Amino acid sequence: MTRTIKVSKTPKDTGPAGWNQILTAARAYPQLQGDIQADWVVVGGGFAGIAAARRLSQLTQNESIVLVDANRLAEGPAGRNSGFMIDLPHDLNSETYAGAQDEDRKQIHLNRTAIDFAREMAQEFGMPKQVFDPCGKVTGAGSSRGEKHIDSYIKHLEILGESHRLMDAAEMKRWTGTDFYSKGLFTPGAVVIQPAAFIRMAAEGLSKRVDIYENTPVTAMELGSEHLLTTPAGRIRARNVILAVNGHIQSFGFFPRQLLHVFTYASMTRKLSRDEQQRLGGAADWGVLPADPMGTTVRRCSDFMGSGDRVTVRNRFTLNQSMEISEREVAGVIRAHDKAFSARFPMLEGVEMEHRWGGRLCLSWNSVPAFGELEERVYSAACQNGLGTVKGTMSGMMAAELAVKGSSQLLDEFRSYDKPRQLPPEPFLSVGANINLRWKEWLAGVEL
Ligand SMILES: Cc1cc2nc3c(=O)[nH]c(=O)nc-3n(C[C@H](O)[C@H](O)[C@H](O)COP(=O)(O)OP(=O)(O)OC[C@H]3O[C@@H](n4cnc5c(N)ncnc54)[C@H](O)[C@@H]3O)c2cc1C
Repeated sequence: MTRTIKVSKTPKDTGPAGWNQILTAARAYPQLQGDIQADWVVVGGGFAGIAAARRLSQLTQNESIVLVDANRLAEGPAGRNSGFMIDLPHDLNSETYAGAQDEDRKQIHLNRTAIDFAREMAQEFGMPKQVFDPCGKVTGAGSSRGEKHIDSYIKHLEILGESHRLMDAAEMKRWTGTDFYSKGLFTPGAVVIQPAAFIRMAAEGLSKRVDIYENTPVTAMELGSEHLLTTPAGRIRARNVILAVNGHIQSFGFFPRQLLHVFTYASMTRKLSRDEQQRLGGAADWGVLPADPMGTTVRRCSDFMGSGDRVTVRNRFTLNQSMEISEREVAGVIRAHDKAFSARFPMLEGVEMEHRWGGRLCLSWNSVPAFGELEERVYSAACQNGLGTVKGTMSGMMAAELAVKGSSQLLDEFRSYDKPRQLPPEPFLSVGANINLRWKEWLAGVEL
């Protein structure tokens, strides 16, 4: 018996993927033309897809692996994010990022394993520090509300026995050049990446073993003893399929009414002149996460292969269950971005934003992944709950292990999560969630 799945929607990314735009032209992988056969096909070339392909290449010897993406690599959410690979609990649904202690210990272990897996790729594929920087992370506060968030997070870290160091306003200013931050909290285990360069270099490294196709959306899937995946100009016959498509797992008909499609937004300046860099001062590369999860993330990056020195800000969340946003929605966050930028960088008055974009996150109500064998030899590595650089890497690794090995200690740990909880019906969900987001953003005040 065969069953055909029609893919209801392929991804649409709104605005440029800033981190990808500022790099030199990417290596182009072909669009699939004609019919091919493979032992494995990975659908999606973000963090989960790259990790799945990598783990498959380690676990299988002479089996063929194909990876397809609907768009160009690093143009989707993987090339749009702020690049924080965070080892500590980072639950966007929580007031402080933290959760219950046992859950947090488990999450830390999984996150660190995923970061080590990415680190190994970074070493093997020759990624420089500007692409993969094990510099730890700093959470910054610019108000008493933000400081309270830091204080309560410290208490949590102390219970967990996690090392950390407080930075005072003077140290924050020396490091960032701005006197916006009154307090900072450094934790050593995170890695900061140039997300688009990471994806590109990982794909390049994998391409010796994995056949990669870009601009190749899967539009239908016929399930059978061999699955048949249809794309616009060719078909793939494969025994095993890993769906690493994040929220678009729903477009394949899985996890209906269980996933939240949240968008967040970023703006990146044009290249800063030498004079502007001097006016700003501080370190050439730094990043600050907001103490209040609803606040603004900031990164300053030095030139990498002609990208120039730039500042990037990220804030605002919207829930869009259609999995799409319009240019108007990106335009709607400009004020919040420009306000956050000028509050932190008055010395850069007049520096314009060159790239503005939005990007998809996929969350579940109970912050668990949408993972597992969904049909015979069809595996899901989706729903990264906002920390896709790390959780996507982990779910891709785990999907490959589940498919090849069936079980492992790490897999048992990863699979001990509940299933994604059913969501409230529409329109209550979208109206309620968006009101709640606006309310929390309002509460975040100057942290935004
Ligand atoms: C502005 C912004 C800032 C962020 N900051 C951070 C951060 O600092 N740290 C962090 O960890 N996370 C961050 N995120 C979230 C992170 O980017 C995502 O969680 C992550 O990209 C998810 O990884 P993934 O591989 O599961 O999915 P994706 O990166 O979404 O990759 C899925 C891929 O599947 C492809 N696809 C979908 N459907 C099909 C189909 N039918 N056929 C073929 N291909 C298909 C898509 O084109 C896409 O490339 C941020 C996101 C945004 C937008």
